Amino acid sequence: MLFSLPALVLDKEVRNEIDLLVIFLTPGGKIRALAKGAQKSRRRFLNLLEDLTYLKVHLRKPQKGKILILEGADLLYLPESLRWMPSKFYFFSYVSEILDFTSPEALKKSDFEWLINFIKFLDKKEPFNLNEAKIFFELKWLQICGLYPQVWECVSCGREPKRIYYFSVPSGGILCFSCKDSASYSLSLNQIDLLRKIVRIKELNEVETLMKGLSTTENSLLIRLVEEFFAYHFDWEPRSLRILKEEFLSG
Ligand SMILES: [Zn+2]
Repeated sequence: MLFSLPALVLDKEVRNEIDLLVIFLTPGGKIRALAKGAQKSRRRFLNLLEDLTYLKVHLRKPQKGKILILEGADLLYLPESLRWMPSKFYFFSYVSEILDFTSPEALKKSDFEWLINFIKFLDKKEPFNLNEAKIFFELKWLQICGLYPQVWECVSCGREPKRIYYFSVPSGGILCFSCKDSASYSLSLNQIDLLRKIVRIKELNEVETLMKGLSTTENSLLIRLVEEFFAYHFDWEPRSLRILKEEFLSG
């Protein structure tokens, strides 16, 4: 049985010396497919199997075995800016590692489409600010995975704090003045507002302003807290994060 799907390349590994096992993110979730002979003859798939390349893949369900066979692929979108911008290259590696390791079993079609549009948007974005792209992506991905911090009510007593907000990574969101503990940090209403707006964002043109707001110097604490929140609630730290921090986010 032959069928076709839109799919984003996340990773690949060599199998049986000449084949490639490719990991894709599709609107229905993550899948694996075997590209026979792709390691031997690179021409067969040209350079279509690079990270975050967006394809229409043609797959076959084999008679025996469970692994799908990749029969062919048409290019839908190829991010190009990363070829000459190392910061984008490493950021996109960070994104594909996260998508590969943390993708939920089933993805909503609208979330998949949002992801594709976000990749295109970042590919074209000039100038590119790594800090703002990173915090924004981390928050959106937490939301897509159902792990977004509780930013409306105090996670402990359920009341909406008035003017004074504390944020706790282990508790999973904001705390009011009476519930704050030693692990919580004070955040301004402005910062809470930014966190609340991300959830409601509908159009990509709102992203620009929000990303800028999130990454200003007065929000360096927020950037750190979101990174900690991400690692804590996924209980995992991407390997590519270290390179990203050492090479591009120092100081
Ligand atoms: Zn409280």
